[in-house]
Amino acid sequence: MGSDFRAAVLHRVGTPLAIETITGAAVGPDDVRVRIRAASLCHTDLEVMEGSLRYPLPMVLGHEASGIIEETGADVTGLTVGDHVVLSWNPHCGHCFQCDRDQPILCDTYLEAGPRGMHFDGTSKATLASGSPLTHLMFLGAFSEYCVVPAQQAIVVPKDIPFDRSCLIGCGVMTGVGGALNVADIRQGDTVMVFGCGAVGLAAIQGARLAGAGTIIAVDLDDTKLEIASRVGADQCVNATKKDPVEVARTATRGRGVDVVLESAGHPTAFKQTTEAVRLGGQVIWLGKIDVAKDVSFRWGSLMGEKRLRRSSYGGARPRRDFPLLAKAYLDGRLKLDELITHRMKLESINEGFDLLRAGKTIRTVIDF
Ligand SMILES: [Zn+2]
Ligand SMILES: [Zn+2]
Repeated sequence: MGSDFRAAVLHRVGTPLAIETITGAAVGPDDVRVRIRAASLCHTDLEVMEGSLRYPLPMVLGHEASGIIEETGADVTGLTVGDHVVLSWNPHCGHCFQCDRDQPILCDTYLEAGPRGMHFDGTSKATLASGSPLTHLMFLGAFSEYCVVPAQQAIVVPKDIPFDRSCLIGCGVMTGVGGALNVADIRQGDTVMVFGCGAVGLAAIQGARLAGAGTIIAVDLDDTKLEIASRVGADQCVNATKKDPVEVARTATRGRGVDVVLESAGHPTAFKQTTEAVRLGGQVIWLGKIDVAKDVSFRWGSLMGEKRLRRSSYGGARPRRDFPLLAKAYLDGRLKLDELITHRMKLESINEGFDLLRAGKTIRTVIDF
């Protein structure tokens, strides 16, 4: 049986989200129905609203969320009604060309269904109240009281972690911590520079610390965000409107450049600075993004010298392995999440949250359902 519930729907690029009643699909044999308890606003949602990320509309946005399992499909094993879960946006088949090469983020089925706004089985799991079709952002559409998702996307976490904290693990925190722990090869004592101190960057700083970095230098344009960066573990903070981060990188390393750069600023200037700031033989991990149709230019020499340059969308996430570890790190006090939440609001106010995000005034706004 389907059911009706409220969700935030994007009908047209450049317009606010509409809070309206939609109709969820029945739970299929491999699906679970999750009652969403908290969902946070990520920059990717804003990119869809502004049209730099293009999807078929109308669409339910939201892809960083946590909740409670309310119903399980007939064939679902390992999940129980009442489980607390964080949702993953990278379902994968486990046996295609890319899955066999340990790249679930490139899974053939994932890459085929995602741009169409469909779920992993190629269908939509909700319609507008009128019965018209509706798409879902990143296999979730989590700005919604309920989500029907394949069981593999619902990852059980301990019940002690509050929903408004655990939801952050689903996208930004996974990407940042994973960029440092899974993608980069950070050695004990390395000097690591992190560009951009939004949720991903603040998580990357903490990932670098967990990986054993000796010195962590945070770069942003906003002193308020840098202040939070120092609270979550940055040793040195650079406001790039006042100081050249490339100069700082060289000064801190006797002119060599830093060992590892983790980028989450999503700006062409930052992309260019990352390759200048890293040492010969060092690593640059780009986690941020811009409109995929845009060009970025680099000084060719800045790419040479055996530098290892890599882009990652989800920090090498293996959600079933990583989400419980991140939740435990929070509960143990090794991963700070409270500092990332700057605003809390109800679903009805979600457009105010996006106004704040557009103005660069937030780290994370959490919608409390
Ligand atoms: Zn995201
Ligand atoms: Zn696959």
